Amino acid sequence: MDYTPDLTPLFAPKRIAVVGASSTPGKIGNIIMQNLIDAGYEGEIIPVNRKGDEILGLPVTHDVKDIQGPLDLGVIVIPPKFVVPTLEDLAALPVKAVIIITAGFKEVGKDGYYLEEQVKEICTKAGIALLGPNCLGMINTASKVNASFAVGQPQPGKIAFFSQSGALCVSILDWALGQNIGFSSFVSLGNKALLDESHMLEHLVDDPATKVILGYIEGVENGVRFMRAARKVTPKKPVVLIKSGTTSAGAQAASSHTGAIAGSDQAYTAAFRQSGIIRAHDVKTLFNLAESFSSQPLPKGPNLAIVTNSGGPGILAADACGNSDLMMARLSAASVDKLKEFLPPYASLYNPIDIIGDADAERYAKTLEIVLADERVHSVMVLLSPTATVQVEETARAVIAQAKNSAKPIFACFMGDVAVREGRRLLQEASVPCFSFPEPAIESINTMYQYFETINKPAAAEICFLRHMGKAKKIIDQAKAAGQTEIVEFQAQGVLQAYDLPQPKTILARTSDEAVKAAKDMGYPVVLKIASPQISHKSDVGGVKVNLRDEDAVRAAYLDITSRAARMRTEAFISGCLVQEMAPKGSREVIVGFKRDPQFGPLILFGLGGIYVEVLKDVSFRLAPLSISDAQEMVREIKSFPLLRGVRGDKPVNFQAIEDVLLVMSQFALDFPEVYEAEFNPVLVSETQALVADVRVILAEH
Ligand code: ADP
Ligand code: MG
Repeated sequence: MDYTPDLTPLFAPKRIAVVGASSTPGKIGNIIMQNLIDAGYEGEIIPVNRKGDEILGLPVTHDVKDIQGPLDLGVIVIPPKFVVPTLEDLAALPVKAVIIITAGFKEVGKDGYYLEEQVKEICTKAGIALLGPNCLGMINTASKVNASFAVGQPQPGKIAFFSQSGALCVSILDWALGQNIGFSSFVSLGNKALLDESHMLEHLVDDPATKVILGYIEGVENGVRFMRAARKVTPKKPVVLIKSGTTSAGAQAASSHTGAIAGSDQAYTAAFRQSGIIRAHDVKTLFNLAESFSSQPLPKGPNLAIVTNSGGPGILAADACGNSDLMMARLSAASVDKLKEFLPPYASLYNPIDIIGDADAERYAKTLEIVLADERVHSVMVLLSPTATVQVEETARAVIAQAKNSAKPIFACFMGDVAVREGRRLLQEASVPCFSFPEPAIESINTMYQYFETINKPAAAEICFLRHMGKAKKIIDQAKAAGQTEIVEFQAQGVLQAYDLPQPKTILARTSDEAVKAAKDMGYPVVLKIASPQISHKSDVGGVKVNLRDEDAVRAAYLDITSRAARMRTEAFISGCLVQEMAPKGSREVIVGFKRDPQFGPLILFGLGGIYVEVLKDVSFRLAPLSISDAQEMVREIKSFPLLRGVRGDKPVNFQAIEDVLLVMSQFALDFPEVYEAEFNPVLVSETQALVADVRVILAEH
C-alpha cells in the first residue's frame, strides 16, 4: 500500500477544528487551543465541544457535523472510544489532515490495536494525512501553527525535528528554548499509524524554511521506503538522526558466524551510511550538528587551521583533528610571511597558530583574515582561553566580522564559562557556532566535511554479474523439497559454479579408493572434508583434515573422518568426503556472508575469516545491492586490513578478487529471497585469487 497524502494541509492549514477543545486550564484540549492562539495563527480555529459557548474567546461548535464546509486540519483530543465516529464525521466534511493526540491505541494492547486499524482504514480510504495517534502534536513556525500540547513556543529557525517519542519532544523543546535554538517544524510522530519518518523526509526536502532535518527514531517499519526517501533528501539537506534501542547482535542460536554477528543495529548503521544520513549517538551531538550545519557553509576539503591564544588547548584541538578525517592545514609561505610581520616573536606561525596569551581582538582579526584567505585552508577554528588580558566581546565581534566575509566555515571555541559567556552569546546570535571545548567543535567540522564528501561522491554504478540462475534454483528447490533448512558445502558446489565463483578443485569421493584417485588427479597436498547433508559445521566433528600429502594420508583421513562422524552424529547420512585442492601457501582467510534483515533486506558482511570472527568482530557491513565502491570500502574498513595489504614482506592479496566475491554475494542475496543467510567462510585469498573454500546456505529463519 502506497500512502502518500499531501502534507501541506498538515503543516500549513488554513482552517483548523480542535475536537475536544476545553475551557478548563490545564486540560490538553485547553493547552492546544492556547498554543494555537499564542503562536499567532492567522487562520480560522473552530473549537468543538458538546458543552459550552466559548473557549478562549472563540465560539464553540457542538458537533463536528455542524461544521460548515471543508477543513484542512482536525485535531482530536477526545477519549479513544469516540475517535472512530468523530473521524468518520470529519472525513465527511471533508478534512485533509488529522492529528490524533489521544492515547489508548496500539500501545495498550489488542483492543487499541483494532481501534488503530479502523483509524488507518478511514484515513487511507479518504486520503487523510494522519499524524499519531498517541502524539504530542505538531508545530510549524512558518505558518504559525502550534497544534501541540507542548509547553512554550519555539522560535522560528531552520531546523526541522521529528520524533517518535513525545517525552523527548518536550525535553528538547524546553532545552531549545533555553539555548535560543529555533525550529521550522517540530513533529511528534506518536504511534506512526500512517505517517512516519519517511513521509517527513519526503515532505521536508522541499520545505524552504528547513535547512537541516533532525529526528529521533526507535525503529523503521519500511526500510526500503525509508532509504529511498533519505537518498532523495541527503544530497540537498543534511539529515541527522538518533536511533535508539540499539539491540545486541543477532540471535544467540544463529547457525552461521554472519547470523551471530549481524544484528539490526548493523543494518541501521549500514542503511544510514548508504543513504547519506548522519547518525548522532546522543542528543547533545544532534544539536551541535544542527547548529553547525544550519549556520556555517560546508568545508570544501579536509584542511583545518587553528588560531589560538594558548598552547595547551591548541594541542588538544590538533589531537582531536588527528583522530578525525580532518588534517592540520599547512599554511602557504606567503601567509607565514604576512603573519610574521605583525605577530610577536614568540608566536607560533605554524598550525596551530598560537598568537599567545596577550592577543587582543585586533591580533585575532588580522590573523584570521590571512588564514581565511589562504587557499590551503578549508575551515578555521578560533580558540580563546580567558587570559587576564583577553578581550572576549571584541574578539567575538572580530570573529563575526571575518565569518561574514568568508565562504569558509568558522567555528569558535571559547573555553570556560563565566568569563566568556557574553562572547559566546554574541557568536551564537551571529550564527557562528561556539563551543566550550575543542573536541565537539572538531567533531562538528569533521562531520560536515564527511557530509561534503558524501554528497560529492560520484553516483554508484549498478553492476550485474552474468549467472546461471536456473542452475542455482534447482539446487535450492531440491533442498527445499527434501525438507532441508540448510545447504551444506558438498551440496552447494553447484551454486558456486552457477555464479562463476572461483573455488578450489573439489570432488566428492564415496570411498577411500575414490578419494585417493581424486587426490592423485588434482595433485597433492589436498584437504578432506566430511560430506553429509546433516553436518554443516564440519570441523566440530573432526570432519576437516588439511595438508594431506600422500595416498596413505588420504586413505587414513578418509576412514578417520567418516567413522568419527558416524560415531558423533548417529542420525547423519554420510555421503563420503570432499577431496579439495589446498589453497596456495600464504593465503589468508576472509569471510563473506549475508543475513536478511527484516526491515532493510540483505545485509552483507565482510571480515577476517577463521575461528576468531565472532570474538574479534572485526567486520564491515553494507546493505545489498552493493556498488563497487561499497565493496572497496568494506574491504578497507576492517581494522585488520593491513594484514591483507601485507606485513613483514607478505605480498598484498588480490583485493579486486575479494570485491568480486562480495558483489556476487550481494547479487545472490537479491536473486533468491528464500535464502535467509549465506556464508563463504573461508574465502582463501592470495596474491592472485580469492577461492571460496566453504559455503553454507540457510533457507529458513531458525
Ligand atoms: P567448517 O567451517 O565446516 O568447519 P571448512 O571447510 O571451513 O569447514 O574448513 C575449516 C578450515 O579448514 C578452514 O577455516 C580453513 O582454515 C581450512 N581449509 C578448508 N578448506 C581449505 C582449503 N581448500 N585449503 C586450505 N585450507 C582449507
Ligand atoms: Mg567454514
